[in-house]
Amino acid sequence: LWQYICDEFNKKLSTISYNTWLKAVKPIQFKSNMLVIEVPTALHKDYWKANLSKQVTTMIADSIGQKITVVAKLPEEPNPLVNSYTSTNTAVARDASRPTFMRETKLNDKYTFETFVIGKGNQMAHAAALVVAEEPGALYNPLFFFGGVGLGKTHLMHAIGHQMLANNPQAKVKYVTSEAFANDFINSIQTKRQEEFRKEYRSVDLLLVDDIQFFADKEGTQEEFFHTFNALYDDKKQIVLSSDRLPNEIPKLQKRLVSRFKWGLSVDITPPDLETRIAILRNKADADRLDIPDDTLSYIAGQIDSNIRELEGALVRVQAYSSMTHMPVTTSLAADALKNLKLNGKTSEISIAVIQDKVAKYYRISISDLKGKKRVKNIVIPRQIAMYLARELTDASLPKIGHEFGGKDHTTVIHAHEKISGALTTDSDLQRAINDLKGELKK
Ligand code: ADP
Ligand code: MG
Repeated sequence: LWQYICDEFNKKLSTISYNTWLKAVKPIQFKSNMLVIEVPTALHKDYWKANLSKQVTTMIADSIGQKITVVAKLPEEPNPLVNSYTSTNTAVARDASRPTFMRETKLNDKYTFETFVIGKGNQMAHAAALVVAEEPGALYNPLFFFGGVGLGKTHLMHAIGHQMLANNPQAKVKYVTSEAFANDFINSIQTKRQEEFRKEYRSVDLLLVDDIQFFADKEGTQEEFFHTFNALYDDKKQIVLSSDRLPNEIPKLQKRLVSRFKWGLSVDITPPDLETRIAILRNKADADRLDIPDDTLSYIAGQIDSNIRELEGALVRVQAYSSMTHMPVTTSLAADALKNLKLNGKTSEISIAVIQDKVAKYYRISISDLKGKKRVKNIVIPRQIAMYLARELTDASLPKIGHEFGGKDHTTVIHAHEKISGALTTDSDLQRAINDLKGELKK
């Protein structure tokens, strides 16, 4: 692209102009229709802004019909396409003689509060995220998100980072997965740069650590994280963590970490209801400029109910199917496209979330109680029934079922299944309940 632009200007401009305005310029990055270039002086920047950028836009629009924008930046200015580095990392990155071993923080620019659809299952998590972004370190420290795969934990964490940087561009924001933290730590030992590691992780204003369930087997990393946590906490720096289950359900997580994680606020994210799923699809379709009728969106939202990533995947699939077959997107086309998806075994006819929903409604208890740990009889029995039905009516594995019930062990699922199958042979009330529920579910 840059070569093409240079060639075009070469034809248009005098040699002197060309050498002044183009030769001294370095293309940095092209992404999402934005071309970032680096110019040597402020005067270059002004000239590009006032003059050349527009010419490039027209040039590209005329030749390939794509509307791009050009942003000129000075060498010392940040690349607007890269959301944030922690400043220590930037310093390390600039000093080429000192190769960095720690990765930069790059927040995904699609994961913002603006693009996050609020629904019943994530409302509390969303509100807590916003509070933490606006008043880091003050109220909920640490903030802990837990919930199933694809429900928006990572999205919210990035959104906090974006928001904090918008409020305070100087803030040091660091996002890592627990694996990246572990890798950085191990590398720092291997390369004898533990000082650097500590400085990096303990000097941030906001530390986001995603998927901490993967700390499970890593003793040394947990030890280091414990100290990182304490240092940040004592400094009133905000810590945000996520996991697919509650801290005390993460196997082999040190007790002292579990207890620290409880100092702040833990919020769970539960699968979105139908309205929220439709809203998410609508947003996504609009963002991608797809023209999809409402009833088709509702249909898709009705097919996939527990994982937003899969929901988005289904939309992409329907769209791809439509362009492959050169047919407009309609509900029946969507049904065709998603039928294949089902044959691939990605979603089963009845999902665990639906079972939970029906069982919770049937017994008038909340989904969070159903997935929770309360041991009172009027919750334990519906919970066992729901697990039993999940085992009977879906292809989900035992660990997967346990996971969907707030991260319980597979042995709990086996136990529940045995208990209910046993009781079914004698208990006619139970037989009736199971029959009703099955009928509901097969509708
Ligand atoms: P998790 O980290 O919980 O597994 P992600 O944050 O990666 O889930 O979310 C999976 C996908 O679903 C992402 O593309 C994300 O943008 C999208 N998503 C999740 N929740 C929402 C929401 N409430 N509104 C819009 N998109 C969402
Ligand atoms: Mg995630």
